[in-house]
Amino acid sequence: MKKKIAIIGAGIAGLTLANFIKKFTEHEFMVYEKEESLSLEEGYGIQLATNSVKILNQINFNKIEKEKIFNPNTLVFYSLKNEKICDLNLSKFNNVEAKYTTLQRSTLIEFLKENIYTQHLRFGKKIKEVSELKDKILIKFEDNTNDLVDFVIAADGIFSSTRSFFEKKKIEPKFKKAIAARIIIKSKYDLNISEDNINLILGGNCHIVIYPINQKKELNLVCIMRCKKYDPDSTKQLIQNLVLKQNPNFKNIFDNEIKTWPLYFTPKIQPSSNKKVFYIGDAFNGFLPTLAQGAGQSIESAFEIFNLLTKDRLDKENNYFENRSKRAQIIRSRSNFNFFAFHFSSKVMQNIRNLFLKFLVKRRFFVKRYLGKVYKN
Ligand SMILES: Cc1cc2nc3c(=O)[nH]c(=O)nc-3n(C[C@H](O)[C@H](O)[C@H](O)COP(=O)(O)OP(=O)(O)OC[C@H]3O[C@@H](n4cnc5c(N)ncnc54)[C@H](O)[C@@H]3O)c2cc1C
Repeated sequence: MKKKIAIIGAGIAGLTLANFIKKFTEHEFMVYEKEESLSLEEGYGIQLATNSVKILNQINFNKIEKEKIFNPNTLVFYSLKNEKICDLNLSKFNNVEAKYTTLQRSTLIEFLKENIYTQHLRFGKKIKEVSELKDKILIKFEDNTNDLVDFVIAADGIFSSTRSFFEKKKIEPKFKKAIAARIIIKSKYDLNISEDNINLILGGNCHIVIYPINQKKELNLVCIMRCKKYDPDSTKQLIQNLVLKQNPNFKNIFDNEIKTWPLYFTPKIQPSSNKKVFYIGDAFNGFLPTLAQGAGQSIESAFEIFNLLTKDRLDKENNYFENRSKRAQIIRSRSNFNFFAFHFSSKVMQNIRNLFLKFLVKRRFFVKRYLGKVYKN
């Protein structure tokens, strides 16, 4: 039977779900976004592994302009001194259906908005009140409009305020005592790295990831640094103390425009207490970026909801929460472990880690278990 769905939040999760509903079903839906427009400027890079690319290809992501994306084949590990530790062949996870892909977040959002922008997206919409009417949910927005729907899909990010309307107790995201700094660079400067690879540069209490985001080989640089509190005004000082002290050769790179944000994660996965309400993407669980799976999991969770919808199982007994939680725990444990291993400050620990890394990246069984399980190979 035809259902009516409200999707709250026009990020990667909400827009992916919207595209699937639009392309494959007759259900009615609307995406409600609190901002006045889509954030296409803040363009940090996104890595999409095969698990998410395979899903996106069903809504024609494979037809996206090739100029705007990149398919790196190798992940190369370096020390912050820019000495190579080892490499991992990522292309072995590729198949005919999907390739490991890097691109700018704005490119992905542009692609996802294309088919739904005019008819199915409403801006400046903040929920004021929700109530249950018979079998439906009435959402009242702050601009005095409302919508009566069968399902609410909350895709409003890690700080999901939709949760506050439906859950008595909300578990707040936690600050990881780390920040991310992002720069788009036009060349690799003097660094001994390849513009065709994902370069993972490991230092004490910090690490840097550099990868191409399109065929022009513009590079996305993200630097994750441990710090006790988030103070955007002291970013330069932090970079000086953590990165440049260990390798002054990065100075020219960090003279570029830097954007920073604090890293938060969801400490505990919380189920929905309402059978008509589902959480997807970061609203379900926010991960640390150290496995590059946040967007991937947003896409996967949106696809799971779509599948339940097409099988008419969204309001029946379904195991969305159980299955999603299991999946999130796999991603979370690996993201957390990577965060721990990428930031050793002791030289001894760094050397031991590097030895393990060199050994493990060549072990097919390990790589298949550690990454294959995430990339679903
Ligand atoms: C440094 C860093 C690097 C990353 N790198 C990668 C990577 O390489 N690969 C990867 O897969 N992931 C990466 N991620 C994670 C990824 O970007 C996120 O997990 C993903 O974007 C989450 O998508 P989302 O749609 O769930 O939420 P969001 O992108 O947060 O979107 C939520 C949307 O909801 C809107 N909204 C919020 N509140 C309301 C409300 N009350 N009402 C209506 N609308 C609302 C917001 O304005 C926004 O548009 C990275 C994250 C960080 C911090």
